[in-house]
Amino acid sequence: MSLIRSDVIIVGAGPAGCAAALHLSGQGHAVILIERLALPQVKACGDALLPDALRALDRFGVADALAAVGKSLDTLHITAPNGAEVELAVRSLSLKRPDLHALLHERLRACGVELWRGEVLEPIRSSDGQICGVRCRRDGGMTEIFAPLVILASGARPETMQRFGMVEGEAPTAVAIRAYYRDYDNPNDTTLRIACHPAIAPGFFWLCPLPESQYSIGCGHSLAANRRPEHQYLQNRLEYLSRFYPASAKIVGQEDMIGTPCSSVLRTGLAGAKLYADGLLVTGEAAGSSSPLFGAGVGKALESGELAGIVAAEALANKRFDAIFLARYQERLNEKFCEVYAGQSKAQQWLHSAKHLNLLIRKAGRQDKLRQKLESVLNEDLPLSKAVSFWTFFLP
Ligand SMILES: Cc1cc2nc3c(=O)[nH]c(=O)nc-3n(C[C@H](O)[C@H](O)[C@H](O)COP(=O)(O)OP(=O)(O)OC[C@H]3O[C@@H](n4cnc5c(N)ncnc54)[C@H](O)[C@@H]3O)c2cc1C
Repeated sequence: MSLIRSDVIIVGAGPAGCAAALHLSGQGHAVILIERLALPQVKACGDALLPDALRALDRFGVADALAAVGKSLDTLHITAPNGAEVELAVRSLSLKRPDLHALLHERLRACGVELWRGEVLEPIRSSDGQICGVRCRRDGGMTEIFAPLVILASGARPETMQRFGMVEGEAPTAVAIRAYYRDYDNPNDTTLRIACHPAIAPGFFWLCPLPESQYSIGCGHSLAANRRPEHQYLQNRLEYLSRFYPASAKIVGQEDMIGTPCSSVLRTGLAGAKLYADGLLVTGEAAGSSSPLFGAGVGKALESGELAGIVAAEALANKRFDAIFLARYQERLNEKFCEVYAGQSKAQQWLHSAKHLNLLIRKAGRQDKLRQKLESVLNEDLPLSKAVSFWTFFLP
């Protein structure tokens, strides 16, 4: 068995793990980032990068490369359960996840991060119980890697978190499926469409144009109503909804599906996980970083990963890896996310009602002021609580 040392070990090379690694390597620290899937890894995703993700990717120096390979989108079209519609000016960009991972991994390698394919099986603990490394299956053998700090960025699936004893309460909180289709008829489509429909409530259906004349079509719902994340159920919903809406019906009608539909769970609202322990930080969707309202998670995974990297760098500078020192990570995550997510959770409960959704979208379709406010929320220039209130619905 080989024995290796580093400053920090990061488990999972998704957006959160990459962001933590990029921050730490920028501060001159040695980082080993371990990913269990073949690189660049495939991930079930709608492939839409919303404004928070675009800002974070800009900070990490990949904005130009992203603009060169991604598809810029300028409009978000929303359909209410009763068919009311609104178009919002929201800037986003689409790119399939393996292509996004490839860009991030290229940047990591340029910054000197060691990116390994391997599966982290369990923590290694010192005699006082503090985590001081990980045991990992790699190249058909076992490797022990030692570091004073481990960052878990292992995503929404709970297995790795369970091995480190960091799962708390119920997980996951939502589930979604996506399929890819080819369509050569509309190369200039720059509209991301989402639609709320009773067949997928509480949740939504999406249609997202991708580079190279492809589309991501999918749907997802919250698991609040005691439902289990069943792939077959979701696939039936997806088939029904993609034929129900005219914009997607003409794409799926050609039967030009690429690969097979792929589903996965989500963890939202910063709930369901311990965020730190002696020698350990948890970040990204493992920490429940995705939005409770939209399920979008790449931007918040990047932001929370960056924050884990910042706190890890402070721990290394102070040679303090105990839980008392690392508690500052949770405080800062709360400062950054909690107000926004509390507002989104409230809104989510409110918008479970089809009546409320119909009213909001109808009004936004008619009132410039409300439409502009929603655009500011989606562009993250305005908190949801300042844009929408009780009076939004009842004043003319
Ligand atoms: C169907 C679907 C559609 C979505 N659409 C969107 C969207 O359009 N836009 C958006 O912003 N968000 C979307 N999301 C959410 C988004 O995908 C996640 O929020 C985001 O991927 C979280 O990033 P992460 O780095 O925390 O986790 P992940 O991207 O899941 O990365 C975690 C990585 O850790 C690796 N790993 C886990 N355990 C181990 C181990 N023991 N050893 C080594 N490696 C390990 C995994 O293989 C994985 O690659 C969607 C989610 C789903 C399910």
